[in-house]
Amino acid sequence: MMQAEFGATPWGRVWVRTIESTSAGGPNMLLPKARTLARNSTSIVAAGTGRVEADVTMSGEVCRVKIDLPIWPDGTQAEVGRLVAKAVAEHRGLVAGDLPDTLEADFRHHAISVAPHIQELHSGCTCRSRKRPCVHVFATIYALVQLVDERPALAVELRSAAATAIATTDPDWVALSEFDPAAFYGD
Ligand SMILES: [Zn+2]
Repeated sequence: MMQAEFGATPWGRVWVRTIESTSAGGPNMLLPKARTLARNSTSIVAAGTGRVEADVTMSGEVCRVKIDLPIWPDGTQAEVGRLVAKAVAEHRGLVAGDLPDTLEADFRHHAISVAPHIQELHSGCTCRSRKRPCVHVFATIYALVQLVDERPALAVELRSAAATAIATTDPDWVALSEFDPAAFYGD
């Protein structure tokens, strides 16, 4: 079976669902174009605690997209920390930034949503489109899905306050840092 281009892991798939289930009134016609932009001309410039930023180039114009998303409440973050530590201990030999698929299922069993609902995202874009969210916002989320598929720990970092120190070092650029659950959640 061919691997899905967007959502090859359960971590990416929950983010795909965030945008592909927006369609109360039928399919979102912006999504095919958004996937093309994600493939060819979207670069994520920052992704970390509660925030994603990207440059999307379309017809020679660069649009800057910013998306704010809610971090988990403190209690949820503590529970996530415990579940991550347990999963990592049970899956020795995970490469840095990877998380086992079973952990995403654990999150669901604990009613912890990895990706926020579309209504919880606050997005802005420098384009002049009157349609909001615009196609560039959806392209950014598809590009984010690909980053999350490559590095599932990012899905946890996006919703966790623990990375705040990294995110605020430089407002224009955030390193997609190596994820070390022991250091991340240790005390
Ligand atoms: Zn736009």
